[in-house]
Amino acid sequence: MNWYADFENIVRLNEPMAPKTWFRLGGPARYFIEPRSREELSTVVKRLAENNIPMYLLGGGANLLVRDQGVDGAVISLSHSAFSRVVIDDRMVRVGAGKDVLKLVLELAKTGLAGLECQAGIPGTVGGEIRMNAGGTFGDIGSTVAEVTVMDSFGQVFTRQRDDLVFSYRRSNINAKIILDALFELTPENPDRLAQRVKEIWMYKRNTQPLKDNSAGCIFRNPDGLSAGKLIDEAGLKGSVVGGAEISQHHANFIVARHGASSADVLALMELARKTVRDKTGIELESEVVIW
Ligand SMILES: Cc1cc2nc3c(=O)[nH]c(=O)nc-3n(C[C@H](O)[C@H](O)[C@H](O)COP(=O)(O)OP(=O)(O)OC[C@H]3O[C@@H](n4cnc5c(N)ncnc54)[C@H](O)[C@@H]3O)c2cc1C
Repeated sequence: MNWYADFENIVRLNEPMAPKTWFRLGGPARYFIEPRSREELSTVVKRLAENNIPMYLLGGGANLLVRDQGVDGAVISLSHSAFSRVVIDDRMVRVGAGKDVLKLVLELAKTGLAGLECQAGIPGTVGGEIRMNAGGTFGDIGSTVAEVTVMDSFGQVFTRQRDDLVFSYRRSNINAKIILDALFELTPENPDRLAQRVKEIWMYKRNTQPLKDNSAGCIFRNPDGLSAGKLIDEAGLKGSVVGGAEISQHHANFIVARHGASSADVLALMELARKTVRDKTGIELESEVVIW
C-alpha cells in the first residue's frame, strides 16, 4: 500500500517546484502535498514520519533555492484557505501561516491596525516570515507576535507564548517543523496615515532592491555589524555572472536569475562571492537563502 493511500487527491508526484519559488529555479518534488485541514495535515505528517520520508515546508518560496535535481522527499504547502484565515478581535489578530503577508498588510491598513506595515514589500507567507523573522530597516515581524501555534513532526499541536519566543536577526527559536498560525498584538491607527506609511515603506524597498527580478532577496546574512552587500560590492563582484545568474548591479547581496539560469549557476556564484570575500577580508559569508 502507498503511504498516501486515501490522500491521492491532495498528493501530487514529481511536482515542478520552480514556479513555486521567487527564483523560478529548481527541479521537481517527489511528493507535493496540499492538506485541506489541520487534521489532514497531522495524519500526513505522521504517515511521512512512519515511512521515513523527509518533509519540507513551503511558504511563499521567497527565500528558497531548490537544487536542479529537485527534492527527494515530501513538500507540504499550506496553500489551502483553511490555513490563511484572519480573525480580528480588537487589537489581537490571529492569522493562518499560509496567509500572504502583502495581502495581510493591506487588509490591516484598511482596518486601521498598525505593527506589520514594516513587512510591506517583503514577499512571503506568515509562516515563512515568522520562521525567518523577516524584516529590515523598519522593523521585523517577531516584534508583534504574542503567540504561535506549531505542529511537530509527529503531528502534535502546541502553543508557544511570547515569553518563550526569541526573535533575532533573521532567526527565531521556533524549531517545530510546522508553524500553523500566529497571534499578533497590533496598535489602532488612523487607516489613511497607515496606508501612507505602507506606501512609503514599499517605495523605499522598491528603490533599494531589485524587486522585479527573480531572486530570493538577500542571499547572505549580514556578518555582525557589517553589510554582506557592501563586502561583496567592495570585492568588485557587482555584475559578476555565472551562466544565467548575476550579482545584482542594484544591490550586491541579491543574486538574480536571468533567462536560462539554473540553480547550479546560483550556487556557483554564491561560492565565488564567498571565496572572493574570504580571500580579501577573512570574513566567512553565511547563506540566508534556504537551499533544498
Ligand atoms: C524580492 C525579495 C525581497 C526580499 N526582501 C526581504 C527583506 O527585506 N527582508 C527579509 O527579511 N526578507 C526578504 N526577502 C526574503 C523573504 O521574503 C523572507 O525570507 C520570507 O520570510 C520568506 O517567506 P516565505 O513564506 O516565502 O518562505 P519560504 O521561502 O517558502 O521558506 C523559507 C523557510 O521558512 C520555512 N517555512 C515556510 N513556511 C513555514 C511554516 N508554515 N512553518 C514552518 N516553516 C516554514 C521553510 O521551510 C524555509 O525553511 C525577500 C525576498 C525577495 C524575493
